[in-house]
Amino acid sequence: MEIRAKVQPMWESDDRTVDYALARLAVLREFRRGRLSKPEVCDAQPELIRAASHLGRPKQEPCPICESENLVSVMYAFGPKLPAHGQCLEGPADLSKLNASASANKVYYVEVCLACRWNHLERMSVLGAGDAASA
Ligand SMILES: [Zn+2]
Repeated sequence: MEIRAKVQPMWESDDRTVDYALARLAVLREFRRGRLSKPEVCDAQPELIRAASHLGRPKQEPCPICESENLVSVMYAFGPKLPAHGQCLEGPADLSKLNASASANKVYYVEVCLACRWNHLERMSVLGAGDAASA
């Protein structure tokens, strides 16, 4: 799956979480100025739409593009013991499992609009390998 990040992310102090809020704002600003078209920003792949409709967690936030539906959030994990194309996570139990893992896994949170196919990274967290609990 392709994950869009048009602007360099800002690392937080712990280096295990990246917040893409600024990148998201930049994309929305470019869209409102007409420098990005709707097909360019509403380009969720069928696989992502499928994952979002089955496993997405509803957010209390309307889509910034079409404003007709609330966004859903999907979690994808990438790691040495996971499929190369990533694994869609179902919920907190999956996160706990990754956190207890001996290897470092990257979990990407992606917001998706099922109405217009807008999608953007929300944040990335590294889970596993290095936590005191896994020693
Ligand atoms: Zn939308």
